[in-house]
Amino acid sequence: MNLIADFDLTRENTLGLKSAARLAARITQAEALAALLDEADRRGMNFTVLGGGSNVVLSETVEALVGLMRIAGRRLSGQTATHNLVTAGAGENWHDFVTWTVGRGMPGLENLAGIPGTVGAAPVQNIGAYGVQLSDVFFELSAFDTKTRAIETFKAADCGFGYRQSRFKIEPGRHVILSVTLALPRDWSPTKAYAGLEGFPDDAAPAEVMASVLALRQSKLPDWRSLGNAGSFFHNPVVSTEEAERLADAPRYPQPDGRVKLSAGWLIEQCGLKGERLGPVGTYDGHALVLVNHGGATRRDVARFAAFVRERVKARFGVDLVQEPVEI
Ligand SMILES: Cc1cc2nc3c(=O)[nH]c(=O)nc-3n(C[C@H](O)[C@H](O)[C@H](O)COP(=O)(O)OP(=O)(O)OC[C@H]3O[C@@H](n4cnc5c(N)ncnc54)[C@H](O)[C@@H]3O)c2cc1C
Repeated sequence: MNLIADFDLTRENTLGLKSAARLAARITQAEALAALLDEADRRGMNFTVLGGGSNVVLSETVEALVGLMRIAGRRLSGQTATHNLVTAGAGENWHDFVTWTVGRGMPGLENLAGIPGTVGAAPVQNIGAYGVQLSDVFFELSAFDTKTRAIETFKAADCGFGYRQSRFKIEPGRHVILSVTLALPRDWSPTKAYAGLEGFPDDAAPAEVMASVLALRQSKLPDWRSLGNAGSFFHNPVVSTEEAERLADAPRYPQPDGRVKLSAGWLIEQCGLKGERLGPVGTYDGHALVLVNHGGATRRDVARFAAFVRERVKARFGVDLVQEPVEI
């Protein structure tokens, strides 16, 4: 166990917030977890896991033992008549994993290409983009239960997947995801029910679809390496049809449960907040849903600006925006 005191996390989060962990340790194998938890208990500290830091708002000092997820490995782990099963360690980079599957003739993840972060965090908020979400291709995952200290297998039905939601997000800290197995269809055709992808023929090459997804993402989102951000900062609100009726002009997306999804970016933009800024934090001038760090921001700056956006949207539309990135 290699414990590092006052570990600088500023470069470990895509918002680029100034942050340090009181204590940190790299996790390269599941067997290390029990000893790390014992150590955290002994010191009276919380234990928390960090992947790529692309969906978190970090405190200036994280008063915890932070486990930096680095479990590696990816393989074809099985085959059925209809699917290839692929398994990756929780510390693998998500986009590299997607590229690896497509490169080996196992399509199915191309619409999820370019999402920052790790494989292990993908189930936490059931990542989604361009008409596909992780739960569409999920087979099972293996996780360490920090309460019972046992390693368990979770099938899709055990994960409580919803829109950017799962049991792992609802019960933060309870499970450390160690590996994820996905079922990719052997008889593939592109998912193209999304503006910008609808022109693809059914026999399109998966790599072409992936290239289009990456180009679309690049045209909409700032590169976090040059302008710190955590992607979409608020969930798209899902409201009742009566509530949606009140907002006659708002773009609306009917949901299977009869409710209506609204565009948080549209609501923010209508409040005149696209490109708005308070100190070092603002909305991206190309996409109002993305909060950006113009340099040197801390969690407090983000909280102040996020509260300002929420208040303005509430006052104008009566809609509550819910933050997507997790506070650590
Ligand atoms: C530019 C940009 C674009 C984005 N686009 C999208 C998008 O299109 N769709 C989308 O869904 N998301 C998107 N995101 C959000 C983010 O990339 C995903 O949520 C991603 O899965 C987070 O992975 P991570 O490894 O960075 O997680 P982190 O930010 O490190 O952690 C997020 C949460 O998961 C927990 N966690 C991390 N690893 C584990 C583990 N192994 N076991 C248990 N808990 C764990 C952490 O404790 C934390 O609570 C975007 C972010 C950015 C910066």
